[in-house]
Amino acid sequence: MNGRRPLVAVWLLALWLAIAGNVPLWQRVDALVSSPSQRLALFAGLGLLVAGATAALLSLMAWPRVFRPVATALALVSAFNTHFMLQYGAVIDPTMLANVAQTDVREVRDLLSWSLPVTVLLVAGMPLWWIWRRPLATRSWLPQTGRNVLGVLAGLGLVMVVVLLAYQDLASLMRNQKSLRYMINPLNTVYAATRLAADQLPRQVRALQPVGEDAKLGASYARQQRPPLLLLVVGETARAQSFGLNGYARATTPALARWQAESGLVNFSQAQACGTNTQVSLPCLFSPLTREQGGDRIAEHENLLDVLQRAGLAVLWIDNQAGCKGVCARVPTVSTLDLQLPGLCGGGECFDAAMLERLDERVAALDPERSARGVVLVMHQMGSHGPAYFRRSPPDRKPFMPECASNTLHDCPPEQLVNAYDNTIAYTDHFLDTALQWLQARASSGANDTGLIYVSDHGESLGENGLYLHGVPYALAPRQQTHVPMVVWLSSGLLERTGLHTGCLRNRSAVPVAHDHFFHSVLGLMDVATGAYERSLDALAPCAAAAFAQLRQTGSRQ
Ligand SMILES: [Zn+2]
Repeated sequence: MNGRRPLVAVWLLALWLAIAGNVPLWQRVDALVSSPSQRLALFAGLGLLVAGATAALLSLMAWPRVFRPVATALALVSAFNTHFMLQYGAVIDPTMLANVAQTDVREVRDLLSWSLPVTVLLVAGMPLWWIWRRPLATRSWLPQTGRNVLGVLAGLGLVMVVVLLAYQDLASLMRNQKSLRYMINPLNTVYAATRLAADQLPRQVRALQPVGEDAKLGASYARQQRPPLLLLVVGETARAQSFGLNGYARATTPALARWQAESGLVNFSQAQACGTNTQVSLPCLFSPLTREQGGDRIAEHENLLDVLQRAGLAVLWIDNQAGCKGVCARVPTVSTLDLQLPGLCGGGECFDAAMLERLDERVAALDPERSARGVVLVMHQMGSHGPAYFRRSPPDRKPFMPECASNTLHDCPPEQLVNAYDNTIAYTDHFLDTALQWLQARASSGANDTGLIYVSDHGESLGENGLYLHGVPYALAPRQQTHVPMVVWLSSGLLERTGLHTGCLRNRSAVPVAHDHFFHSVLGLMDVATGAYERSLDALAPCAAAAFAQLRQTGSRQ
């Protein structure tokens, strides 16, 4: 049997992937352009452009042993991308791909649905069958190299010709619709993977740069009667818009509203996330760098937890998710999954309340020398992680019914999807309520001066503008994905100790804050003196009594 001619295989596959592998792109272009002639020109132009670039890529790989695995990977990538784009309005950029690479079984299971194999079969089935039926013809390597080079040049030549002919139309389309470039399969993934590899390789060999090597405890520790205990709750996928505290029409946060009315909880209504996915936001939240300074890029520095620990405090990270993205690498950690708590855990995951079990024991088990100075606990929530929102709240904690009980979001009426999401927020409200009660009890018993900061890592789209989930490139992201809820509560002991005033905090609660402020606000609150602390980025500092602030500044200069 003769082998298939590489030229034929390359171009047929390139054309197929350009057309059948880009249904979401064609849908979007179709919706954007109203004139039929312009639409035809754009379809033809973009189609040939994608086919040419894909053919160039495939020609590079048109070696007998290499071609079929590469072609298979590209066809499958196009098919999977098509599914997630159609299903969730996702686009593929480097951070999205990094997310995919770091996901776990639970997240994957949540994303699976019957439409995935159907899409994969429709997009990749036929080309794969055709490719694997016969191998490529074998030639000696010199003529094959020549042909491959010619193939690459032909593909790039086609791209050049199309760009020259249709420059105006294509350029204006791409300028106005930046997300389109992340919709071009499979080139978006090839680009993202190359960028990620280029970013990651040199960094892996480099050690993290130390931060706050001069960190030490401030003056308040010398005269303390009770050690401070601060609980940092990192929310997941909670958006500010769906928080009752922020004026949402539904009572999704009744308990927090009570804490706000009766016990001094402060709601920061204008908090901005650093990224639109966990992969970016979580490290950025704990980073000494602002987003502008590169806090949203792969961490090259130690983080807040390292500084707190270096100052001599006890730090504990409690995780109810797919891990801490490197943030907790150098501090003690507990994963709820290892606890197997009956009623709270099952099917490889736990409700967030599992993190609140046996907390007193957990604190008692910390290094006694450190915890006598002070404690910082971090709880990393499962929160509102989608698309299986219905899995995030227990059956007896679902005030909004009926709820969408499918992870194929399109299958549910929009209001049921919103119900399922709002139930996750109501459950977070309950979770924070329980956490606050525990903190209150520890303060009342005289064990600690306690406080809580809750902030979500990023928001979520629930079908607005046809978008679902999150992860839209930051510059293009809708407010639903970047505006996050944030609340602060401080016991009277901690208020006294820090010189902060609730009235002042409330007056300033609508001033815009961001993940950028987290690092410095926590250092300020815990009175850790270090050159890494910047008062201008401490969101609470403007409300500290002048005398105390003075003291802290002097402390940091010593
Ligand atoms: Zn997240």
